[in-house]
Amino acid sequence: MNMLQVTDLQKDYAEHRIIKHLDFMIQEGDCVALLGPNGSGKTTIIKMLLNIIKPTGGQIRFWGQCHDQYLHRIGYLPQHPTFYPWMTGIELLTFMAGLSGIDKHALDQRINPLMERVGLSKDGHKRISTYSGGMKQRLGIAQALIHQPQLLIMDEPVSALDPLGRRDLLELLKTLKQETTILFSTHVLHDAEELCNQIMILKEGDLQFSGSMEEILLQNQQPIFVIQAPMAKEWAPRLVHPDIVDSITQTESMAKVHVKNIEQGRIWLLERIHCLQLPLKKFELVQESLEEIFVRMVKS
Ligand code: ADP
Repeated sequence: MNMLQVTDLQKDYAEHRIIKHLDFMIQEGDCVALLGPNGSGKTTIIKMLLNIIKPTGGQIRFWGQCHDQYLHRIGYLPQHPTFYPWMTGIELLTFMAGLSGIDKHALDQRINPLMERVGLSKDGHKRISTYSGGMKQRLGIAQALIHQPQLLIMDEPVSALDPLGRRDLLELLKTLKQETTILFSTHVLHDAEELCNQIMILKEGDLQFSGSMEEILLQNQQPIFVIQAPMAKEWAPRLVHPDIVDSITQTESMAKVHVKNIEQGRIWLLERIHCLQLPLKKFELVQESLEEIFVRMVKS
């Protein structure tokens, strides 16, 4: 059985359909990135999984159960976690554990290993107001894990951090994913690539892709011809052909041409290069990178 099974999930605000008939599943042990540009619906999906907002339609099942039976089995780090700044890290965890109904004996055994786990063992008695952004995110993760959930959901956990804080948190998540099933949202492909075995790509509330990293490359990678010659903005638009060329992106001295068919593309482009008498520096066939696939999938 799938750990999380989402079927035909929809969300409307007024007459706008924000989330459009989503189907996806998460297996135990997965580390899944919900990837999409700002406004694509990531937070809305996460809030529906957590029953913070109600879906307009569809079903969410966790080990086959509906939300009132499963919510205590999920840990959640919101996009902008807020803490009482006058509390210490340990006081916050004690307070949150009390809200989760964890008894004092279990708590005493849990807090120190957890603070150690998230790299805050030396800072547990400091006030949260003195914590850096990265330390607050770590504390947020500890708070999300205090009741030993089976699934950890995080909304953009690294996006507000500076590069060092980001690196530290990614390293922490790499170790956590060995113990806990993880779903997190991000708009940064690189974070997904570094951490996840599964990705879901969202565009305007619609899933463009759901599957493994290998599958996205296998199913979606398109051939690209890279053409290098000076003044690309003058010649690149003249490579367009409605039946042969899918799209062209260009920089100062290079164009990347997505073609529908490699052989037709090669013949057409070589003919054009000859006809336009381009001072060619490079003509190469490459495969799209994951980033190029992602950009193609989410661009309007
Ligand atoms: P993301 O997390 O990918 O940035 P969101 O889930 O926050 O996207 O938002 C998806 C879309 O839903 C956006 O167009 C946003 O403006 C809209 N939206 C979110 N919350 C509300 C709301 N309470 N009322 C109306 N529209 C909303």
